Amino acid sequence: GLTSAHPPTATRTTCGYCGVGCALDVVTRNGEVTAVLPARDGPVNQGHACVKGRFAHGYLTSPERLTRPLLRRDGRLEAIGWDEALGEVARGLRKVIDTGGPDAVAAISSARATNEENYLVQKFMRVVVGTNNVDNCSRLCHSPSAAGLTASFGLSGGTDTFDDVERSDCLLVVGANPVEAHPVVGARLLRRVLHGAKLVVADPRAVGLALHADVHLRPRPGTNVALFHGLAHVLLAEGLADEGFLRERATGLPELAELLDDYPPDRVADLTGVPAADLVAAARLYGRARQPAIVYGLGVTEHLHGTDGVRSLANLAILRGAVGTDRGHGVNPLRGQNNVQGASDMGALPDLLPGYGKVTDPAVRSRAEAVWGAPVPARPGLRIPDMFAAARAGNLRALWVIGEDVCATDPDTNQVARALDTCPLVICNELFLSETARHADIVLPAASWLEKDGTFVNFDRRFQRVRPGVPPPGEARTDFEIVHAVATAMGIDIGCPTPAEALAECGRVAPVFAGLSHDRLERDGAIPWPCPDPGRPGEAKLYKERFATPDGRAHLAVSPYLPPGEQPDDDYPLILVTGRRWAHYNSGSMTRRGGNLTLDPIDFLDLNPDDALRYEVHDGLPLIVESRHGRARLIARVSEQTAPGQVFCSFHFPASGVNRLTSDHADTVTSCPEYKVTAVRVAVP
Ligand code: SF4
Repeated sequence: GLTSAHPPTATRTTCGYCGVGCALDVVTRNGEVTAVLPARDGPVNQGHACVKGRFAHGYLTSPERLTRPLLRRDGRLEAIGWDEALGEVARGLRKVIDTGGPDAVAAISSARATNEENYLVQKFMRVVVGTNNVDNCSRLCHSPSAAGLTASFGLSGGTDTFDDVERSDCLLVVGANPVEAHPVVGARLLRRVLHGAKLVVADPRAVGLALHADVHLRPRPGTNVALFHGLAHVLLAEGLADEGFLRERATGLPELAELLDDYPPDRVADLTGVPAADLVAAARLYGRARQPAIVYGLGVTEHLHGTDGVRSLANLAILRGAVGTDRGHGVNPLRGQNNVQGASDMGALPDLLPGYGKVTDPAVRSRAEAVWGAPVPARPGLRIPDMFAAARAGNLRALWVIGEDVCATDPDTNQVARALDTCPLVICNELFLSETARHADIVLPAASWLEKDGTFVNFDRRFQRVRPGVPPPGEARTDFEIVHAVATAMGIDIGCPTPAEALAECGRVAPVFAGLSHDRLERDGAIPWPCPDPGRPGEAKLYKERFATPDGRAHLAVSPYLPPGEQPDDDYPLILVTGRRWAHYNSGSMTRRGGNLTLDPIDFLDLNPDDALRYEVHDGLPLIVESRHGRARLIARVSEQTAPGQVFCSFHFPASGVNRLTSDHADTVTSCPEYKVTAVRVAVP
């Protein structure tokens, strides 16, 4: 009841949905969340939040929450106690390690979990199991950003703060739909445009921001690299490059200039479908601006040549001297998940330790070994797609999936399910009985972000505190507690008894985080990394003096355009692009269990009116969508947002089968799936 004995209390935390990192006040009464309010003093959101964050508590009390561990017996999952569950996990892992070696075990950590949990998961795999087989779902979204930005500039993160971006007089927004996917950033970008900044949008779809663009470039999906080379060609041809910057702070200009000779606007128009005049106009806006900024999303990364895309986009900022200077605001990825930056920062990656030191580097390993008091394996581990392949081949015999519904969200999900069914031991930490949990042998009930203590890192590299508004339901535990308990059950003290101590230890392994602590975050609020010194603020804008590459210079990339993995043909004449919609988050497992479902109850396949006429399709008609890999069922929606020859749907309703359609083509550098280009056909059942 609403008695004065139980007045509402508010707990400040950080949104656990997208990577914007809005500060939220979680209001509770009698132990239940009654409202989630945007914090007026939130450093990124400044009093705003979107429909996802505002109604984030909807799923918390869902009757479908898992509250007890489950064990598969005779093919059925049965509720058991924690002691028995931990014993089963510990015995199962020990048996696989003893019979198949440490590399027969792998873990998929979570971009939704806290930094401290990710730190503990990777430490568990390296120290307790003895393998580098740990990855996180940035593999599926921004691994090309990590690889590309590191190669071009030296660090795996956006180059500038969003406050800087908002000071720009020309915004180049590429392959992103922030109005729906990152609504608070979308609103801030729009505010800047309404105050006079120029806006160039490059996206095959007429996304919300495109309505306000000075130039909207609509490349055919999969042709980004050609588009960016075309823009770079114009910058050089029209004398818009910053010669002093290129001379003093960059390398690779002669090689790039030679490559760009092959990308004049007319040829780029043929390759991409973007009119040459639009290309020239966009390059002039970016090239002549006082302080241009680039913001981009998964439309750049989720391609066969996603890393080349990131690097070719970064070329524009380097050519223009608009990164690491006050003449621009760099290159900034919009992160889809709340902690996709942090999961990678913490070293939940098969080739990198916390702070991005290579596992192959003896000096990096010995620093971690000194802190952990245990050897760190030198051989890089398996990436997520390779884990599934190894499981199907019988070489991976235990897989721990932490808070990722890989059976719904990874590409070509029929193959993922086969991998889980072949793997003898699948452990899954989950909130709900997800598709992945249904294939698991042991399911451990996990806490959500509203029930956790720790930190997240948002898209502009800010560490922010996460605090529990309510306790987890029933016997559910945080991933931090679960990893601890499994290590203990295996007879090993993994250290870091609290999240605060885990972050402190991480700072000893990775000097870039050495200045961070929970105490300091309590006192100072959000702090960006690099932050090596507890007495100094973190570095918000990067590379003011030198780039973090070995030679201190920005590296122009010289990669020719190569076509995407799939092309439409007579059998599969349309290109499917998948993405986000405003009311839902990722696989929808949380947003579909709250009020957001009323706002956006089903998914649609968006088709251009021309294609609707051609295939005799109208709004609301049920469709079968088929690719070379599988089939899905969706409802037709005729929409000018989608270009002729292309169709669009979200990945928020995996039951429709959308990821049975997507291919196993993946970025040649990082294995990030090519979600953005799948050849399909539609049929009326
Ligand atoms: Fe902010 Fe993103 Fe959460 Fe919306 S989903 S409230 S934009 S952090």
